[in-house]
Amino acid sequence: MLLDTLSEVKNYVNGQFVGSGQRSMDVISPLTGETISKLPMSGRSDLDEAVAAAQRAFPSWSALTIKERVQVFFKFRALLAKHEEELAKLVQLENGKTIGEAKAEVAKGIELCEFSCSLPQLIQDEILEVSRGVECRTSHAPVGVVACITPFNFPHMVPLWTVPNALALGNTVILKPSELVPLSAIRIVELLKEAGLPDGAVNIVNGDKEIVEAICDHPGIEAVTFVGSTKVAKIVYKRATSNLKRCVALGGAKNHLIVLPDAHVQMAASNIAASMSGCAGQRCMAASAMVGVGDIDHIVAALCDESRKIVPGENLGSVITKEAKERIEGYITAAEQAGAKVLVDGRNTVVKGCENGYYVGPTVIDYVTPDMAIAKEEVFGPVLAIIRTNDVDEALKIENDSNYGNAASVFTQNGGMAKYITERASAGMVGVNIGVPVPREPFSFGGWNESKFGVADITGKSSVHFFTRLKKTTTKWNPEAKTNWMS
Ligand code: NAD
Repeated sequence: MLLDTLSEVKNYVNGQFVGSGQRSMDVISPLTGETISKLPMSGRSDLDEAVAAAQRAFPSWSALTIKERVQVFFKFRALLAKHEEELAKLVQLENGKTIGEAKAEVAKGIELCEFSCSLPQLIQDEILEVSRGVECRTSHAPVGVVACITPFNFPHMVPLWTVPNALALGNTVILKPSELVPLSAIRIVELLKEAGLPDGAVNIVNGDKEIVEAICDHPGIEAVTFVGSTKVAKIVYKRATSNLKRCVALGGAKNHLIVLPDAHVQMAASNIAASMSGCAGQRCMAASAMVGVGDIDHIVAALCDESRKIVPGENLGSVITKEAKERIEGYITAAEQAGAKVLVDGRNTVVKGCENGYYVGPTVIDYVTPDMAIAKEEVFGPVLAIIRTNDVDEALKIENDSNYGNAASVFTQNGGMAKYITERASAGMVGVNIGVPVPREPFSFGGWNESKFGVADITGKSSVHFFTRLKKTTTKWNPEAKTNWMS
């Protein structure tokens, strides 16, 4: 039974849930294929109201000290912890991941919130006496109204990548959740209100392409964060920046794990299987291509054993839509037809009791060649393509040739080799014997190449540069400071 505010999703403007006269869309749970709610597809007039509310809230919210603002996030953190179970169930219902994965997502949200609480320690102003009696001070001023556009794969965590930091740093926010998973965002704003966030400081507009384009064009929005596919990241980055907004747009990924024969067999096998299948492979940090160097048959055998322990409906959730299931299975079939060997096959998976859910089982495909679509494109399912190479430079060339550059990892016991590979991998987040090399706070999250457009990263210390602008104030009080060239 969903809470009242979730049975029919509304926009959230100035602290109130408001209807929209535009068309609506069903929200379907991928676990069962059932309709669980519906949401409005907002238009420009809905956005105008939300931006006006955010602009009205900005002067008083930004005038608070950062120490005052983060008090909201101390309380919000406690509320997230108090409602952990309920929030996790909501993530599972709308996204289809397992309850364990949903709980990990909520726990990660709590960690993000803790980072926001630490911001006063991180961004103290700098002051220097630049000339006798003259002080120069840099301070971090907020940017204004920030829009945050989010994808389906982490309905709770990705909004929390940006919303708490943007707010703690003095901005006000318009959140545009993925239309496939709009429910978790509702609970986030309800809990922010309960934590004491003033009305209008955060607002939600629901919808699809039309509202995203309106966000990119709206003159009242100063900055846009986007997380989603590369195709849309490019559209959003170009459109927002051509309207002179600052923008950071995170895109898709094709993450390579380079595996050497000396890798610790069990550690490599279990980490790679977990990376490939976690959240049904719908993570931008998921292992997608394993590039073996030399004889790695013993690791492939252990990896297949590990993969067979992953059971759809038990420790593997569903993928997001029927179309996603068909697309993923299409990649597997095309690779097989092109000569690759399917060692573990997740096609045609049906989970008892959830026959209409969208499940793909764990899939391991060996002897994939670099020219196959499955080797180059983002599959976004629990599928690992194994590409065989003869030496490390050949493996690195495959990784370097990818258009993407989110994550890369090397599995070896040889420190020198690990250093050689991590230094040459063309990816923003690199791991050694780590399947999912996510940098945890205070480190920042962001890829390279077509996995991120824009300068700053989206979380952690780097995000402070995105959500603030530096004010430089030069001050002289004493006549003894005399007149000089800067007077
Ligand atoms: P998506 O690009 O389809 O959608 C993301 C957002 O863009 C949604 O809010 C959606 O409403 C909007 N949108 C969709 N099509 C649009 C269009 N034509 N014009 C304007 N807006 C549009 O992404 P998704 O399917 O929700 O999420 C999966 C993708 O996100 C994967 O590619 C994944 O790798 C990526 N992702 C990347 C990161 C990262 O950190 N790099 C993190 C999470 C997800």
